[in-house]
Amino acid sequence: MPIYEFRCEKCDLDFEFLVMGSDKPVCPKCGGADVHKLLSSCGFVSKGQGGGVTRRAAADTSCSGCSSGSCSSCGH
Ligand SMILES: [Zn+2]
Repeated sequence: MPIYEFRCEKCDLDFEFLVMGSDKPVCPKCGGADVHKLLSSCGFVSKGQGGGVTRRAAADTSCSGCSSGSCSSCGH
């Protein structure tokens, strides 16, 4: 079941909400229904900005693909 992240327009609270069927997310703090869905933040940021930083971080991090040759996920 998909859990999405939402932000309340009223009180600026970020919260996760398990969306089931036609359930509408409401803010757990103020109970307001004026919320909007956020994009998955971590994947979005690492692919978006700071390409140089991302590459360096990837080089320092070993992955299982590297030890056995070329690895498309980290560029080794
Ligand atoms: Zn709220």
